[in-house]
Amino acid sequence: MLVDIVPVGSVSAEVKRAASTALRSVYDCDVAINDSQSIPSGAYDDGRNQYSAEAFIQLAERTGRGEKNIAITPHDLFYRRRNYVFGLAYLDGSGSVVSTYRLQTSSDGGFSNKSAADIFQDRVRKEIVHEIGHTYGLEHCDNNRCVMNFSPTVREVDIKEENLCGSCQRLIT
Ligand SMILES: [Zn+2]
Ligand SMILES: [Zn+2]
Repeated sequence: MLVDIVPVGSVSAEVKRAASTALRSVYDCDVAINDSQSIPSGAYDDGRNQYSAEAFIQLAERTGRGEKNIAITPHDLFYRRRNYVFGLAYLDGSGSVVSTYRLQTSSDGGFSNKSAADIFQDRVRKEIVHEIGHTYGLEHCDNNRCVMNFSPTVREVDIKEENLCGSCQRLIT
């Protein structure tokens, strides 16, 4: 199984590396990093000043070379009526997306002793693992430590771990 990371816009080397190592550590997969892509035309909604998550998924499906392809972007994403999303994927789909835009708030409120840079990277890793989990057919998990727990805010992201819980793990093996 190959997962191809598709950067859209200006994505730092640290973010690409964090995404790649997280995917390799959680899933039995190879990871490639594609060339940077420009924002898909028509993705921008000027009424919301945000970008359509679905357009980024389509771009990942179109340009990715993997069985699974995940777009990563610094731009703010929306999906339907939700004010924003950290990411989006379709169950058992081949494309997905994560936005780092709202993961970069500086602090975790003292939840850990980590630096802002480490907290940001941890959030990126968790959201990447989460969205790829959906493409493996995993739905949201009630265990708030499991990476497949739904996290509407960074608070929930910070509480959960990077790994699948035992029940989710059994579903994909
Ligand atoms: Zn989810
Ligand atoms: Zn779980």
